[in-house]
Amino acid sequence: MFIRDLIQEKPVLFSCELFPPKAGTDLARADQVVEETAALRPDFISVTYGAGGNNSHNTLRMAKHIEEQGCTALAHLTCVGANSETIRERLDEMRANGVTNILALRGDLPAGMEKPADACFQHAEDLVRVIKSHGDFCVGGACYPECHPESADQEEDLLYLKRKAEAGCDFFTTQMFFDNNVLYRFLYKLYARHIDVPVFAGIMPVTNKKQIKRIVGLSGTSLPPRFQSILDKFGDDSASMEEAGIAYATEQIIDLIANGVRGVHLYSMNRPDIAARIMGNLSHILGKDK
Ligand code: FAD
Repeated sequence: MFIRDLIQEKPVLFSCELFPPKAGTDLARADQVVEETAALRPDFISVTYGAGGNNSHNTLRMAKHIEEQGCTALAHLTCVGANSETIRERLDEMRANGVTNILALRGDLPAGMEKPADACFQHAEDLVRVIKSHGDFCVGGACYPECHPESADQEEDLLYLKRKAEAGCDFFTTQMFFDNNVLYRFLYKLYARHIDVPVFAGIMPVTNKKQIKRIVGLSGTSLPPRFQSILDKFGDDSASMEEAGIAYATEQIIDLIANGVRGVHLYSMNRPDIAARIMGNLSHILGKDK
């Protein structure tokens, strides 16, 4: 089912995110992660894509398996090192396997990888146009409530986000954030610029201090003092950090939905157990108790 249709049908949508196994690793475990996540009945499940495109078959494999479980899949697709022929091949493979929702991303070239001479995409906006011209796909894009690290300022970032919306994005998913006020200010700025594409708020349940320090360092996401104290207090005790991370994400989601946010995307990072605990805390709120 197209995510754009789900958005029309349901008052609140809740999705989860998985990443594909590295080439040569345990595919059975990846299947199991899909099955356990799909059993939670999120509205859709997304699967990330390696920016170099080298492991693309595992993204497709997982997305296909999600659809086989009766759940809507969203396959990520990056274009940074690709040419349009490769992208069209990927799109044909996706369609042939029943995957028709795509998160169109530029991606970042992996360290040490040179941009191939025939690479022909500069920005995600170019990819959105190619996908839209290739057939009936539902296309999402990424957005950054705290600004993309490469942008000079938020004004510039929003200018290009508007262009990405106009290229045909059906929805946006945000980078993670830990302070809901950051998202509310961002949504207000979209509204003021007539960027009226539905937005999924990206929530990361933090269960590991080292991992979050690395991700936050790369993405420029800020850590509010309340969250920083949780990391300081519980970050070296994994069981306590997990409990606190689940509670923090749950509270963030309740506040978002109470304030009218209609889409929440959980960066569940192949941890269906964590997604289950968060969704269990929200079963009435998400209407999953029925
Ligand atoms: P773009 O939209 O192209 O933006 C990148 C930068 O270029 C921004 O600073 C923007 O303001 C600027 N820009 C945009 N258009 C123009 C223009 N026309 N002219 C000049 N400047 C412009 N990475 C992966 O490798 N695989 C994944 O699966 C993946 N999933 C992600 C999912 C989400 C929800 C998010 C938020 C990020 C994800 N990423 C993923 C990371 C993403 O690829 C990086 O953040 C990357 O640096 C930017 O990708 P983008 O699609 O936002 O790029």
